[in-house]
Amino acid sequence: MIDVVVAGAGPNGLMLACELALAGARPLVLERRTEPSGEHRANGLVGQVVRMLDRRGLYERLTAPGARPRPVPGFTFGAFPLDLSDLPDHPLCTLAVPQRRIERMLAERAAELGVEVRLGQEVTGLTQREKSVIVELGGREQVEAAFLVGADGGHSLVRKLAGIEFPGVTVDDSVSRSGHVSVPPGSVGSDGSLSVPGFGDIPPFRHLRTAHGLVSWAPFPGGDPLISTTEWDQPAGGEVSLDDLRTSVSRVLGVNVPLAPPTGPGPHLMRRLAGGNTRIASRYRAGRVFLLGDAAHVHATIGGPGLNLGLQDAMNLGWKLAAQLRGRAPQGLLDTYESERLPAARRVAMHTRAQSLMTRPGGEVTALRELFGELLARPETRRHIAELLSGADITYDMGPATGPLVGRWAPDLPGLRELTRGGRPLLLDPTGTLDTGRWAPHVDTATLPHLESALLLRPDCYVAWQGTTGDGLHEALETWFEPPLTESTRTARIT
Ligand SMILES: Cc1cc2nc3c(=O)[nH]c(=O)nc-3n(C[C@H](O)[C@H](O)[C@H](O)COP(=O)(O)OP(=O)(O)OC[C@H]3O[C@@H](n4cnc5c(N)ncnc54)[C@H](O)[C@@H]3O)c2cc1C
Repeated sequence: MIDVVVAGAGPNGLMLACELALAGARPLVLERRTEPSGEHRANGLVGQVVRMLDRRGLYERLTAPGARPRPVPGFTFGAFPLDLSDLPDHPLCTLAVPQRRIERMLAERAAELGVEVRLGQEVTGLTQREKSVIVELGGREQVEAAFLVGADGGHSLVRKLAGIEFPGVTVDDSVSRSGHVSVPPGSVGSDGSLSVPGFGDIPPFRHLRTAHGLVSWAPFPGGDPLISTTEWDQPAGGEVSLDDLRTSVSRVLGVNVPLAPPTGPGPHLMRRLAGGNTRIASRYRAGRVFLLGDAAHVHATIGGPGLNLGLQDAMNLGWKLAAQLRGRAPQGLLDTYESERLPAARRVAMHTRAQSLMTRPGGEVTALRELFGELLARPETRRHIAELLSGADITYDMGPATGPLVGRWAPDLPGLRELTRGGRPLLLDPTGTLDTGRWAPHVDTATLPHLESALLLRPDCYVAWQGTTGDGLHEALETWFEPPLTESTRTARIT
């Protein structure tokens, strides 16, 4: 029997497979596509996920050897510039890298970890049994697994087959058009802004709201620039052409912009998206079936929070499923996946809806923006938004453990990224004297003399315990990592 079937080799399914393999489980990834997706989706990663990839040694693979994530000096929120340059210790990191490269990197990583990914295999049915799930593949073949994870995107069949509802809202009065273009020589300033005669400058990498809609200009280094518009109460039309995009840009800006076809090697994007959904699965688990990533939550793409949410779902679920499979999961561990990650999705749904509202045309929205702009002048508001966008404001319930860092993502500490690559529980001890007792074979320990207090980290790098003496340490270990069982009790527990 397979340990875990992962339906979908998108970024979140692949990340989960890597986390499972790292924790010693054997996942099988089934993907209905026959070749890697060429679709243009994410242009980058925003938030804790950037640090999370670094903790697994994957940031360097998308950047350069030795590169480290750094907080950004500024970002964007609801078509406002978000100046973070006066908040040196804010948590917001970004990484501009196209989704297909992230998927390629994760596929390579999964292969290195021995994960089997079968392309051209569509999950079409499932039957839950007491101790397994039977996964059907087009009626021809079946696979039996201890668990099935639906990482099969927003239209998730696994979600439907598991009987999990997807409540939320649909907005159907907006249409966005995006395309790679080229612009006349000399029209892009040294800061990357696009100079439009008769209108002014369009700053790079943020939305600009006008009386008639939104425009964004993204001059990616080494590629063709991407220009996008969003308009409301306009006919959605069919396939978008460069002419349509040009006309849309001139409607939003009120002047013509001489956009020409892209000149780079491609692949090039020319896309129209009408409306959008904000939906969150009513449950993340039904028996032996779990949901992950877009299968569990969809929302507006404004600010690019999708992969921050989904890849962190994967890091949360992987070690827990592996512990359950090994018979080492404390009672209720698997249920903490939903109780920890669903609130994170709710926060993203909240801020993407709020941001989308603030980009709409209209006098009331303009008034709201005036007020919000005043609030944004305050450093504490900008810090709040930076923490919201990064997901650094998420605190998990760690039971009786207390301390300022308990339940939080472990802060960056010198040497930590090397210690967290293997995805094992980790005790960071400034004294080198704390004893993990019966858990010792399964918990790494490291002496970090500069730490003020000891920290116990779960494999997803959240702090499960903090203390200066060993008080409460064994209770925390018992809460999250039950000690190894004998072979006879193992069989009982795995069910
Ligand atoms: C226009 C756009 C721009 C975006 N920009 C950003 C951004 O800048 N930053 C960001 O973080 N996020 C962004 N996102 C969101 C991000 O792309 C998604 O959150 C992400 O792709 C979700 O990954 P996933 O693995 O959950 O699902 P998907 O990427 O949808 O992958 C699901 C996989 O499952 C496969 N599949 C489906 N059904 C089955 C089945 N029955 N059996 C087997 N396989 C199946 C599919 O073929 C697919 O490969 C953007 C999205 C869009 C649409």
